[in-house]
Amino acid sequence: MCYAIPGKLVEIKKSIGIVDYFGEKKNVLIDYSNVKIGDYVYAQGGVLVSVISEREALEILETWKELFFELKRTDEKLARIETIPASKNLLSILQKVNLNKALKREELHSLLALSGKNDLRLMYETANNIRQKTHGNACCVHGILEFSNVCESNCFYCGIRKEKTLQRYRMSIKEIIDTARYAVKELGFKALVLQSGEDNWYTIEKLEKIVRAVRKLGILVFLSIGLRDKPTYKRLYEAGARAALLRFETSNANTFKTLRPGTTLEERLEIIRYIKDLGFVLATGFIAGLPGETSEDVINNILLAKSLKPEMYSFGPFIPAQGTPLENQSLLHKDAMLKIIALSRLTDKDSNILVTTAFETLDAKAKREGLLAGANSLMINITPKKYRDFYSIYDKRINIDLQKNVKETIALLHSLGRAPTDLGI
Ligand code: SAH
Ligand code: SF4
Repeated sequence: MCYAIPGKLVEIKKSIGIVDYFGEKKNVLIDYSNVKIGDYVYAQGGVLVSVISEREALEILETWKELFFELKRTDEKLARIETIPASKNLLSILQKVNLNKALKREELHSLLALSGKNDLRLMYETANNIRQKTHGNACCVHGILEFSNVCESNCFYCGIRKEKTLQRYRMSIKEIIDTARYAVKELGFKALVLQSGEDNWYTIEKLEKIVRAVRKLGILVFLSIGLRDKPTYKRLYEAGARAALLRFETSNANTFKTLRPGTTLEERLEIIRYIKDLGFVLATGFIAGLPGETSEDVINNILLAKSLKPEMYSFGPFIPAQGTPLENQSLLHKDAMLKIIALSRLTDKDSNILVTTAFETLDAKAKREGLLAGANSLMINITPKKYRDFYSIYDKRINIDLQKNVKETIALLHSLGRAPTDLGI
């Protein structure tokens, strides 16, 4: 059983429902035609995805009851801010954050430039405290299935770009559905990200078929298929996909044009905004540490992400991939990534922030530290082992056994006091 518990639908107001988890209430988008007040439901990413019988729900909730309150106490304890000596400048900026005042650009710059041990610790602790006060201990764990490493694009940073010599694979529709079914039925995932290169072999019709079948499993279908045209996203929404991950990669239009030949930032942003307007739960963000990145770029990245009003922020460090034009570039330091997570939390209290698998690759403690610096969501790679090494968008990707990964992630979340209630909207 993975990380999700059912809640009781206690109120319905038009398309928004209120789900109760042991007295804690979360808003959800009702996307299920037959629900009524009193039903026990699963929600993911703020979307109601399935209904289960009362008997089954009560059985599950019984096993969670004590643990749920224990987790809450652990999280509250870990989210306390310790009194440590810190710089005056930092204290006055954090005071502004506490008063819900928007930070000025120069204040964001000075947060980004922090380097003292105590200052960094206080910034991360404050971000974690805000996360706890805003979202409680809810934490989403989504599965990610990388179903094709064929890509028609040539992004300079990416290890599966078209021009790279690489063993390519495409999972058949049946293989994709079978893998998804295993993740849902055997491991209990309630949300799956279907990710691939920009691979038009998967026509709209093929993708519709996949989305319909995966949606039938009673989960949130999350697309991450890159720059596709508007009709594709519209039809996949109609087929049942309700979330989409599409990063803008960098807010610097020149860097974008250079690193993603043949495409522009404006074009990408237009599709991102369109996806949001269609009603998709939007996950977006950027790659941190691309060559030539300035601190102004980082602040612009964070502010652009916020302006797109995503339901989830997804940003990861740039990790060089062999055989790409950027193979010799340097790696980002872990603290640079943690600062971005914390800064995003401080500038957008309501945000849901993902600890990405790229960040986990950068540092063994990244998951834990990211979750303690403001993040509240994770992904677990469910790609079949035989394909995983070929989905080499960057080097040194972690390739641990799925069941082991699920077990370790749940143990980590328990140790941090995080519960599998939905993040809500
Ligand atoms: N083709 C789709 C989805 C797969 S790539 C798309 O481009 O949206 C998913 C993400 O991997 C990209 O958005 C990019 O942000 C990230 N990525 C690619 N190469 C990377 C690298 N070398 N280091 C870190 N992240 C990388
Ligand atoms: Fe293709 Fe996405 Fe990699 Fe770009 S980042 S080369 S679109 S898989």
